[in-house]
Amino acid sequence: MTTHVTVWNEYRHERESDVVADIYPDGIHETIADALADDFTVGTATLDEPEHGLTEDVLEETDVLTWWGHAAHDEVEDEIVERVRDHVLDGMGLLVMHSGHYSKIFKRLMGTTCSLKWREAAETERLWVVEPSHPIADGLEEYIEVPEAEMYGERFDIPRPDTLVFTSWFEGGEVFRSGCCYTRGAGRIFYFRPGHETYPVYHQPEIRQVLRNAVEWLDSSSQTHRTFGNSDPIEEIDTSDDRTVH
Ligand code: ZN
Repeated sequence: MTTHVTVWNEYRHERESDVVADIYPDGIHETIADALADDFTVGTATLDEPEHGLTEDVLEETDVLTWWGHAAHDEVEDEIVERVRDHVLDGMGLLVMHSGHYSKIFKRLMGTTCSLKWREAAETERLWVVEPSHPIADGLEEYIEVPEAEMYGERFDIPRPDTLVFTSWFEGGEVFRSGCCYTRGAGRIFYFRPGHETYPVYHQPEIRQVLRNAVEWLDSSSQTHRTFGNSDPIEEIDTSDDRTVH
């Protein structure tokens, strides 16, 4: 069964800045969607659509949601954040990219500030594959070099990832955990650092390969058996405990 991906984008910089529009004329979401379109069924959604394009019907159809936001995190309605979170806990995959580290949904799912250091100096980034056997690293070399990147530096205030797939080194000297895997409820989450809007990062073939690998890994819809609440015993036991309060 084909994986349904919804690519979400704030879609403000591209409409307000000529520099960004030159790199992403149809919006960052269309460039990301294009990287995924050969392998998955892809739709897009943006902030200024009703319900930010993330209606219950759209999310019900979505196996993996990708998230790019930067300047307007506060404009995302709390009700939609909770709706997305419910779907993640229920098994929808979530790929959070770059400045999405400060999105309401990522902070809500992590439970920490998700703060970090940053600098815009068009410096080189080397993303080292530190977990080469992970599916998200399929087909990659030892590292990916991004010639011009915004620096993100530690401390990145996140919970310890289940698996760390990439560690970035920056020309200016900092390091950063750039590819972080989590599970929340039945859902998988991957944070992937590259993607500043004034550099053509999402046009780079290796980065597009990571996005495809990540979507494949995030689609965990084939699971799971989960039972919650009061349960009858599987084995014969004495259930006459009269201290129980109902
Ligand atoms: Zn940025």
